[in-house]
Amino acid sequence: MYRHPIHSFKYKNNELFCEGVKVSAIVKKAGTPCYIYSHTTIVEHFRKIKHAFKAVDPVICFSMKANSNLAVLKTLVNEGAGLDIVSGGELKKALLVKANPQKIAYASVGKTDEEIVEAIRAGILLFNVESKPELLNINRIALRLKKKVQVALRINPDIEAPTHEKINTGSLKKKFGIDLKTAREIFLNAGQYKNLFINGVHIHIGSQITKSAPFLEAIEKALAFIDELSMDGVRIDFFDIGGGLGIFYKDETPQTAKAYAAKVLPLLKGRNFRLIMEPGRFVVGNAGIFVTRKLYTKDNGVKKFMIVDAGMNDFLRPSLYDAYHEIVPVKKNKAKPIVCDVVGPICESGDVFAHDRKVAAAKDGEYLVMMSAGAYGYVMSSNYNVRPRAAEVMVKGKNWAIVQKRESFNDLVRGASIPGFLK
Ligand SMILES: *Cc1c(COP(=O)(O)O)cnc(C)c1O
Repeated sequence: MYRHPIHSFKYKNNELFCEGVKVSAIVKKAGTPCYIYSHTTIVEHFRKIKHAFKAVDPVICFSMKANSNLAVLKTLVNEGAGLDIVSGGELKKALLVKANPQKIAYASVGKTDEEIVEAIRAGILLFNVESKPELLNINRIALRLKKKVQVALRINPDIEAPTHEKINTGSLKKKFGIDLKTAREIFLNAGQYKNLFINGVHIHIGSQITKSAPFLEAIEKALAFIDELSMDGVRIDFFDIGGGLGIFYKDETPQTAKAYAAKVLPLLKGRNFRLIMEPGRFVVGNAGIFVTRKLYTKDNGVKKFMIVDAGMNDFLRPSLYDAYHEIVPVKKNKAKPIVCDVVGPICESGDVFAHDRKVAAAKDGEYLVMMSAGAYGYVMSSNYNVRPRAAEVMVKGKNWAIVQKRESFNDLVRGASIPGFLK
């Protein structure tokens, strides 16, 4: 049964609409596979966080690794969002959409010299630093550039968040952040990093966390750490609580932004630091769908397979994280649903979107939609099997536009050459 909570995608006369536009009309022009984003939902979800936390006026840095489409970024920048970046490429995209550099936070365990130089030159708000060697390196580069840059230490609070193993980041068995002992030692010796203001604490414990308890545990641990530092005379100006808010995919009842704020804000009472947040999935996850065309069905006597024109190269979450995405038809029909595996054309057994799933009995050539595909969808796509990346579309009311063209074969061989010694 269709029970998606996001009102921007709904049926009228058995036809799925994105806002005021028929999905079938979009894919007729844009082709499949294709991502479609609702402008309205993106804005609404961003505002949910903004309003819930307005008492402390946080810097809300949208985590652009969740979706770095330029139209999506522009939508959020127009709403006053900052950006959380993890690479030099993301920095360049952020600057392309004219994000305010003073609202850019840069995390990543492996920032290169070139990336650090570009971020310093761009004048970003701060680096979220993940190791002591990285800290020394940023200090060295800042000295060379004659700049003094702001730094938060990403601490590893060593807690286990109840989420998928591959998106769990807050334990010391993972590569992220700095253990508390090392972080404390750095803060107490901050004076030796002459070109850094080491005045922030950052945490990010994982993604798709639907309950508040793990966040609260991590925040309380970080605040206790900050209090200890303050007794030693260390001042913290920024506290970055990361992202990770879970969303609805199947039968989750994730905390709302309001409920999250109601738990977090009391902990921050009387603090003088500026709060930074880095939501990704929460803002865009439910705002996007992924449309594919059914090619064939086959039945090998043991199992039925529905084969579609999208593969794991286009949408990796189901095979990478065993992620569940609701699959619904673009046009509802009266035929009895079938139970099958929904699979792509890629030569990998892992190229599966759904196992033993009851799905609408689409005819060959009809379109199916994977819901809640706006986060970690297109951004994770690849050219595996020499397949061009899909198109991306944004809808706003009755208007829609292709905001990322489908790749062509020429795009796929650009930069490739056959050397003279093979000719
Ligand atoms: C991925 C990431 C986020 C965003 O996570 P979501 O679960 O999408 O909200 C925020 N901060 C950092 C450092 C990240 O790596």
